[in-house]
Amino acid sequence: MQKDYYKILGVAKNATTEDIKKAYRRLVHKCHPDIAGNTPEIIEKFKEITEAYETLSSPQKREQYDSIARLYEYAEKGSGEPKKEHKKPDSKKPESGSTANDDPPPPPKQRRENTFSKMREEAKNEHAKNIFSDFVNSMINRNAKANKQSQKKYIPPKVDGKDITTEVTLSITEAINGTERIVNILHMETCEKCRGRKFINGTICPECGGAGEKSKYKKLTVKIPPQVKHNSKIRVEGEGNKGYNGGKRGDLYLVIKIENNAEIKYDGLNVLRTIPIEPYEAVLGGYITFEMNGSSIQMKLMPNTYNGQKYRISEQGAEKDGKKGDLIVTIKIDIPKNISKEERDLYEKLKLLSKRSIRETSE
Ligand SMILES: [Zn+2]
Repeated sequence: MQKDYYKILGVAKNATTEDIKKAYRRLVHKCHPDIAGNTPEIIEKFKEITEAYETLSSPQKREQYDSIARLYEYAEKGSGEPKKEHKKPDSKKPESGSTANDDPPPPPKQRRENTFSKMREEAKNEHAKNIFSDFVNSMINRNAKANKQSQKKYIPPKVDGKDITTEVTLSITEAINGTERIVNILHMETCEKCRGRKFINGTICPECGGAGEKSKYKKLTVKIPPQVKHNSKIRVEGEGNKGYNGGKRGDLYLVIKIENNAEIKYDGLNVLRTIPIEPYEAVLGGYITFEMNGSSIQMKLMPNTYNGQKYRISEQGAEKDGKKGDLIVTIKIDIPKNISKEERDLYEKLKLLSKRSIRETSE
């Protein structure tokens, strides 16, 4: 006999899905092991309630369950009253003549035939019963299988934790030589007080408000390798948000920002940097200074330096195993966008003074 899911949920056989849901919610509040206690009986009872709910709340499963329940009913009735049905006389049929009083007894041959047909009938019934019970058994097995499968399906799927992305700003020196940074990351973590169960002794966890998880800052020391580039990413495995239902943790990504958005490239231990200069510096030459390796570097600019010209400054690159690379500077003449009236006047004067003709003309 299968379990009476209607009885378990305390609902009528014609209850609506809404009634079933309500009844289930009521029972969850009363019988959840977190509330009613973690005893084997309660866990078993709760399992039964969940099983009943999962079957009856799905119209398809409920239909299947009901049809099996009907089969059981028929089977019980069928096995309880077969003889009575056989004895029931039907005066119009000759084979029931033996129990009928108003008909004369059939001749011996016919009686024999009647006995045969009766036996045949019974055998048929027996056979039909066997077929029927086979059918019921197969339905039960099918139902059990379906239940098993649906129980499997109800195991919530693994969900991996989300990645966390944060920016880290480095000085040029730090970017070249590597460094360590302490980052303070806001994680979602399982509530420690209720251990993710949401309830404590039947009341909502005061720590997480029943969410089962809390956001929490975590300080991490992250090692930043040497020679990182602007906008590059560093992955710190497993330091993202927590996963669910056995899913793995997400990762933490540090997006590297270099001060002044400095574009730095690397060629082995050599560091390649682009340094902007003023147009007058390009023409006149002279000394320019810029920050490098934590100190300011003074570099001699040749007069008439052109855009894209390269300068090599030895031993100002990256350092590794006692070896030092060079710094290779690419000059970029930066044309001013806003100039004062005075500057403009001077450019006008330059224009008049200039005797160069650097483009071919048609005349
Ligand atoms: Zn909690």
